Amino acid sequence: MLALSRLMELAAATGFDSCGIARAHRLDHDALILSRWLELQHHGSMSYMTRDFEKRVNPEALVPGCKTVMVCILSYHKSKKQVEGAPFVSESGLSKCDYHLVMKSYLQKLENLITREYGAEVFSASHQHLFCDSAPILERRWAQLAGIGAIGKNRQLISPVYGSYIHIGILLLNQEADNYSQPFTDNLCHDCSLCLNACPTGALRDEPFDARKCVSYLTVERKETLPDKYKKTVENILYGCDRCAQVCPYNSHIQPTTHEELSADEAVLNMTADDWQHTSRRQKLRILRRLAK
Ligand code: SF4
Ligand code: SF4
Repeated sequence: MLALSRLMELAAATGFDSCGIARAHRLDHDALILSRWLELQHHGSMSYMTRDFEKRVNPEALVPGCKTVMVCILSYHKSKKQVEGAPFVSESGLSKCDYHLVMKSYLQKLENLITREYGAEVFSASHQHLFCDSAPILERRWAQLAGIGAIGKNRQLISPVYGSYIHIGILLLNQEADNYSQPFTDNLCHDCSLCLNACPTGALRDEPFDARKCVSYLTVERKETLPDKYKKTVENILYGCDRCAQVCPYNSHIQPTTHEELSADEAVLNMTADDWQHTSRRQKLRILRRLAK
């Protein structure tokens, strides 16, 4: 049987900022919300969200025999800002390395440590069991159930220690643990509505969240033509949107990331509006390619 305390030690030794584990089960309530969200077409052109519904809400459908969901986070907050006037790139997009690759290498290291201690049978040999934005799994919900933080009104995972500039990685394990992390149950938002007021499109006011109105969706995921009503809003935006994170009080006192790979790429950070103007579309894509999901 896995030991909660030992798993936490191994995650810390790997370099994760925080970690927790939750007992695997079907997320019945989230399944209802997801189903309503899809019915309303609030996913827009993210058609991948319509696939693998059962796997998305049930880790045992994703990896048969899964008993434990291990959630680990890496902070990517940067202390440096882009040059004034440059087209906006979100903080996650300014990292030196593609966060998917960074997270995967950390998770792989952790998997190796766990395997060395508990044996290879802890992980499914026939199913992918290591994820970072790469599988149908409700990462933020599992992070909350694993005690890492709350899902705020800005729909992001908020850690009281690391704020919301965090990447989530998941390992699915086929063994039970002697104990599980306490789910995070505090309401961190209370009567705050800073993010709702800061959102330029009102996306956070819809229940369930309407991704089609979110600037991150409009600048990263959207496949359809940009609706005229959003042209002004996204005018000087290259990639993503951090407005609802920037105003969140839980992000006001956090420390910059200690992970070198996730610190700011100085070359991109220092590009002026003029530099971007003189960068060809192909070159821009090359720079931003590492951000692609
Ligand atoms: S990322 Fe931007 S557009 Fe999307 S919900 Fe947050 S503030 Fe609104
Ligand atoms: S800005 Fe306020 S309401 Fe929004 S997520 Fe942060 S604490 Fe919650």
